[in-house]
Order: sequence, then C-alpha cells, then structure tokens
Amino acid sequence: MSDDLTLHAHLIGRQGSRADLNTPVLVLDRDALDRNIAAMAALAAAHGVALRPHAKTHKSVDIARRQIAAGARGICCAKIGEAEVMADGGVAGILITSPVAAPRAIERLAALAVRTEGLMAVVDHPAVADRTAAALAAAGATLDVAIDIDPGIARTGVASADKAVELARTIAGLPALRYRGVQYYCGSQQHIEDYAERRAAIVERTHYLQSVIAALADAGFAPDIVTGSGTGTHRIDMDLGVFTELQAGSYVFMDKQYLDCDLTGDGSVPFEVALGVDARVVSANHAGLATIDAGFKSLSTDGGVAVVRRGAPESAFFAFMGDEHAALIAPGIGDALAPGDPVTLTVPHCDPTVNLYDHIHVVDGDTLVAIWPVGARGRAR
Ligand code: PLP
Ligand code: MN
Repeated sequence: MSDDLTLHAHLIGRQGSRADLNTPVLVLDRDALDRNIAAMAALAAAHGVALRPHAKTHKSVDIARRQIAAGARGICCAKIGEAEVMADGGVAGILITSPVAAPRAIERLAALAVRTEGLMAVVDHPAVADRTAAALAAAGATLDVAIDIDPGIARTGVASADKAVELARTIAGLPALRYRGVQYYCGSQQHIEDYAERRAAIVERTHYLQSVIAALADAGFAPDIVTGSGTGTHRIDMDLGVFTELQAGSYVFMDKQYLDCDLTGDGSVPFEVALGVDARVVSANHAGLATIDAGFKSLSTDGGVAVVRRGAPESAFFAFMGDEHAALIAPGIGDALAPGDPVTLTVPHCDPTVNLYDHIHVVDGDTLVAIWPVGARGRAR
C-alpha cells in the first residue's frame, strides 16, 4: 500500500474524514450507489426482465457483488482480463460482451471456462467459433455462447440475419460450444439526448433485431437469451419487451453525459449522481480563475468537460489545463477560492474516468467509509 493509501485507510469511519483525503480522488456515495442499484433492480423486476449489469463501468468486485445481491443474474465484462478479475473475486454469471479473437485470449477464455460456473461469451465469426471450440476441447471445457449482432455501427457483430443463421449452424456443429442466444447493443443510440428521438431510433433498430431473431427461429435456433441495452435506452427496451436481460452499466454512477439525456421521457432523473472526483484548488492568482489539481489524468476527456457539484458555483466554466490541471472560470472565483479549498466534480463520462484510478473512495456524506479497489483497472486485454 502506498503511504497515501495507508493514510487514507486510517481515515475510514472518522467523522468528516473525506475532507482529509489527498486529491484528486475518486469518490462514491455509498447510499446513492445502493439506491441506484435498487432502482434499476426494481424496474427490471416490474418488467419481468433479468439484469446483467455491465461491470466495464465500475471494474469493481465489491460493486458487482452488490448488484448480484440486489437480484442481478450476473455481470457483463468487456474483456477477458476484466472477466478474470471478476471470476477471481467469486462473481458468477459472467458474460464477455466483446468477441475474444486473439490466440492468447482464446486460451485464457478456455482456462477461465474450466474454473468458472456459467461463463458466457459472444462470437461473431465462424472461424473464431472454431478456434474457441478447439481451445475448449483441449482444456476439457464447454462454454455458453451468444451470437453478437451488429446494430448497424459495424463495430462487432454479424452483419445480417443470414450470417447469424450461418454462425448458429457452425456453433451447433461444435460440441464444446452451447448456443444460448443473441446479443444486440445499440451503442450509438444510448446518448441521444431527447427521449422521443432516442425511442424512435430504438424502435427502428428493434424491428431489425426481431427480423434476425425470426430468421434464427425459422432455422431452429430460437434464442433463449436476448441480451443488450444500456442506461440510455433501458426504459424503452423494457417497454418494447424484446430483451430477456439488460446490460446497463452507467446507471450505478451516472455522469455528465447521462445527466444531459432525458432518461425517462418526463425530464425526471431516475438515478442519482453517486460518483464524483474530489479535487482541490492549487493556485488562485487571478480574479476570474481558480486552478484545480485534476486534468486529463484524472478525468476522461472523451465526453466533454466536468461540472462543479460542490465547493464552487455550478455555473463555473470548466476548462482542462493539461495533464494535471483544470481551470474553474467565473467572475470573482479566484478571489473567492483559495489554494487548498475542496471542490467536487461530476465526471464527464464515468467508465473511462474510473479506469484512471486504483481505488474508489466510498463515502457516507462527508465520512470515508471504505476503500474499494478498481480491481479490473487497465485490464483491457
Ligand atoms: N453493453 C455493452 C456491450 C456496452 O458496450 C456497454 C457500454 O458501453 C453497456 C452494455 C452499458 O451501457 P451504459 O454504460 O450506457 O449503461
Ligand atoms: Mn460508457
């Protein structure tokens, strides 16, 4: 443990200790997290759909366990490296949502299948299905698989209903693979800000999904599992009723990108902002500007800028000032704030931000209550 972490560990349970943390620090409100987990679980239960939340968001065994305790059937992982960490943490019901294609990764997948109950992976190509089956046979294991269907973004997934049927036939001929169903993740629709516009886009994409499912069913491959969806479209997908399980991830934390989206159709915000970065003013030598200690290395830069949640006016303009710094810009802010003053930020995009930190500092209000490792941090392969 680093000296800093040792120091922080001593602060656990001490009233008001959040203010003593060194910054920048990734902070998670435990009660808000649990309310978000419970809210999604209740919604899924009311719609009769299973939840397999995506762990790419948090990369944390502790959070995966809380989601499963609240009724999730398992968790999704983006990569084999994430899945290994979750499996080592005793998490069951893992689905790997990106095709595993590299030779070493396929070997690791087979090894993981040997020691993991109910592991499932997606495939989108017959040659990879063949190679995976060979590795599994050599390891003496079998694996559940879902066919990944391209929702029209040409990232991963089979590109047509015919290709889906062809792949299902290949899988059926490989005893080491057990066909379970399909995956369909509409990534480019998740952040359409307007609800009606997002809904119309998903309705259209769902018609295509239904046509692929119908072709599979006609060929004798009706899927038991139809998995997909995200925080942006969870309600729409629940209403449409085609998915049997939902993969939403970001709802546990929320971020600026999702705050900008109307997630309910009535403007209400169904999930709380549980995650934040606590930063500090490090320089305040200009009247209209305060410099804080969080830059590109503390906040993801793909999703716009952070917003102030506490410690400075919410209207302050946030501007990245390089790897280690950002400026908060507002009339008089440099006079009002002094070096050492704390500010809490809502992060622009939660998933890549979490991946920048070794630990999540869990708080109850202003008291540090736990430090959870971001165990799958950096496990991009
Ligand atoms: N499923 C897949 C395959 C994903 O790639 C993602 C996120 O990128 C999710 C589910 C979760 O989506 P969200 O974080 O929008 O809830
Ligand atoms: Mn994301």
